[in-house]
Amino acid sequence: MKFYPKLLLGGLVALLLISCQTTPQPKASGPIVMTPVADYRVVNGELISENPDQPVLPEHLEIWDWIRWVYPQEWINFIGSFGLDTDGEMGGFAYVDVDRLPDGTALSTWRLVIDPADMILDDATSESHFPRVLTHELSHIMALNESQFILDEISDSDQDQWMNHWDFSQGYRNVYGIAQKNSYMNRFVQEFWPAPQILNWPIPPMDKINPMELGSLIDKVKDEYPDSFVSTYAMMSVEEDFAESFSEYVFQEDVQGDSVMSQKIRFFGQFDELVLAREQIRLELGL
Ligand SMILES: [Zn+2]
Repeated sequence: MKFYPKLLLGGLVALLLISCQTTPQPKASGPIVMTPVADYRVVNGELISENPDQPVLPEHLEIWDWIRWVYPQEWINFIGSFGLDTDGEMGGFAYVDVDRLPDGTALSTWRLVIDPADMILDDATSESHFPRVLTHELSHIMALNESQFILDEISDSDQDQWMNHWDFSQGYRNVYGIAQKNSYMNRFVQEFWPAPQILNWPIPPMDKINPMELGSLIDKVKDEYPDSFVSTYAMMSVEEDFAESFSEYVFQEDVQGDSVMSQKIRFFGQFDELVLAREQIRLELGL
């Protein structure tokens, strides 16, 4: 999870932007800055350029076709816009956010953004990193869409205050909204993230991390929560733990053992919609 409020939306609203990086470390200069390259609407799964002088570029269509290949059709329908932003090679690879009107008003559709510079590094086959990144991003949409969350964004200025005033034992909340009682995220939190763990989590949001301290914070989490996280990036937040665990659920053929990590991966198997999505993605990828 990352916050890009000032960079992308003029600082009007504090946004939850779920960013998925090729590496968990922010660049030494601080939070990742993504520069817009292109922006398309998505209508019935097709890319539409809103500027008649700038048709859809073939190289962007090629990336979009990869996405359509990996995502089941019913989930493509959640995507209302597709962006290409770059911070150069490495750094941020992709993120999702709620789709918005130019004035920042949130829509019920989602915006998916890919860094084309990282696509060059990745051959985008079923064995490569790209389908995993896409699956990770998809899980954010699965967890945070309006059937799961009541949209109730927290403004930039309130960001530091809200966490201490929210009773996490009553249900999960993030800067984006409030998890519905039976939502995937609420169930995930009930099972794996007790309130004191959320409130005392040693790793701050990515934009507040001191890169020099990240290694020791990760070591601290590993010591306190052994065999609990499927990846280092999963330690960043509840949302990233959910997304990384879901990605493992899709890509691992069979999960052995009873560690917390294994329980997190198996968690998704209780939901028909997620079981179906896993089967569809695996079928497309030939796994
Ligand atoms: Zn993520």
